[in-house]
Amino acid sequence: MRIFKGIAASEGLAKGKALVHHQASMVAEKQHILADGIAGELEKFRTALSTAKRTLEEHNVRDITKESKEILETHLMMLQDPEYIQQIEAYISTNLVCAQWAVDSVTTDMVALLEKTEDALLRERAVDFRDVSLYLIDAIKGKGSHRMENLDEDVILVADVLMPSELFAMDKTHVLGISLDGGGRASHVAILVRAFNIPTVLATGGASKTVKDGDEVIVDGTYGEVFVRPDLMVSQMLDERFELWQQYEVELHQMADLPSVTTDGHPVQLKANIQTSSEVDGIKALGACGIGLFRSEFLFMESLEHPSEQRQFEVYKQVVESMAPNPVTIRTIDIGGDKVVSGLGIDEKNPILGWRAVRFCLSRKDIFTIQLRALLRASVYGKLQIMFPMISGVEELNAVLHLLEHVKEECRTEHIPFDPNVKVGTMIEVPSAALCADILAKKVDFFSIGTNDLIQYTIAVDRGNEKIAYLYQPFHPGVLRSIKMIVEMAHQNNIPVSLCGEMASDPLCSVLLAGLGMDELSMGSQSLLQVRKILRSVSFEEAKQLADHVLGMDSYLTITTYIREWMHDRFDHITTI
Ligand code: PEP
Ligand code: MG
Repeated sequence: MRIFKGIAASEGLAKGKALVHHQASMVAEKQHILADGIAGELEKFRTALSTAKRTLEEHNVRDITKESKEILETHLMMLQDPEYIQQIEAYISTNLVCAQWAVDSVTTDMVALLEKTEDALLRERAVDFRDVSLYLIDAIKGKGSHRMENLDEDVILVADVLMPSELFAMDKTHVLGISLDGGGRASHVAILVRAFNIPTVLATGGASKTVKDGDEVIVDGTYGEVFVRPDLMVSQMLDERFELWQQYEVELHQMADLPSVTTDGHPVQLKANIQTSSEVDGIKALGACGIGLFRSEFLFMESLEHPSEQRQFEVYKQVVESMAPNPVTIRTIDIGGDKVVSGLGIDEKNPILGWRAVRFCLSRKDIFTIQLRALLRASVYGKLQIMFPMISGVEELNAVLHLLEHVKEECRTEHIPFDPNVKVGTMIEVPSAALCADILAKKVDFFSIGTNDLIQYTIAVDRGNEKIAYLYQPFHPGVLRSIKMIVEMAHQNNIPVSLCGEMASDPLCSVLLAGLGMDELSMGSQSLLQVRKILRSVSFEEAKQLADHVLGMDSYLTITTYIREWMHDRFDHITTI
């Protein structure tokens, strides 16, 4: 038996057979061959062509949207492109290298050429060729990420790295639990596994190097432990843990219909963060009084083609209608960073500080305008609020507000109905925006603090990097001062302030955030009941005293220890941070 300790990223216990995935398996390996090996490599390549075609054809049958169908058909055509095939075959024979290296080299040259052209359509083809080459390399190697898309039995996924897009593509009905070698609690993969309710442990260090396909694995996402080939005693102990956890869940469910108010009557609205429209029924059952953050960029990851205005409108309308009369805050696309969307040409050396969110949208107004139109059209079906991500200063905010006004004007001209009073807010997640909160507050109807990024940028610590996870400190005095200042600036300007980063979903932070004056907390559905239970058991006065007290402290460690003790004295089941 081996035990790996990591970060508890998504609660719950899961037991099953391992499926091991290494991202490196998608990278081509270079191998030189002798002249008499050419025929064998050519044969491998041709077999891979047929396998890749079969995989794509299978996707084509079960794929839903017309746009996805078109893309898959383009990929199928590329796999039959005589010039592409001939170049790869020639590369194998001339350079005496293995098939996977030939596919990779020919594709890399082709992509470089296409990316240089003026023609936007051709530039987009570059991404298609890269995708097609991955299918081919995958087929040559006989394993890879694509096998996660069609699982016929339940598995525990044990991987080194997982991208949000891979998580989206995989067949989640059969993934019981996940163990990742790296990652941080606030990474997008972590946010998604919580949304999908998959027990997950991150930053195990190297479980994927030890585990073999088919090994028995237990993932404890509540305590952050992964047990490989567990012995009988451990198995029994974990079964008991599981039972206790289930009992606590039943107890929590009694909270679903109760209001979120402190014992002295101070309300703190609890809303949900969602990534897809399919999450709405679940969060309604948990008594969320609205959606505080709909990460619309995930709609762009669901299929290979960008969603049309009509498709976006339908999704937004469905969410807004089913939550009415409660409000739904839809954030305009925050792509870039670790959220890569195919076909947009975002491939940067330093993506976290790069062409992301509104920065991307303001230079791709074609894409942005379509989204704003879809949002405005959906606004008549309930209480829709629009929110902008990664605003760093007033010029950027002015630019997006100006564009929104322009799109409204277009709608009026075209007699497209929309809610003229649609509320508009901005995320505060870049330190410069936090420092200018008083200026920004005069221009919007609400603020939402994105602590995932605010912590990342304030402390200059990559939120997804396990090597420096110890520096990712929600209770850093700099972060807490920043939050306090944003709340004060918002309130002085009579606008409400929400917090929608992962801190909102961490039970250990609940009382402190209420004490800092947060009007609303928006979180992944997993935490709604626990946070409500906590807030209903303390008074606002106590919460304010706690906040004042820790704001007087000088270090992350002292604050964390103090809050841990304060919370553990009052609540039994607190596990995170
Ligand atoms: C945040 O940064 O806190 C946030 C909610 O946005 P995201 O996690 O999508 O970057
Ligand atoms: Mg963010």
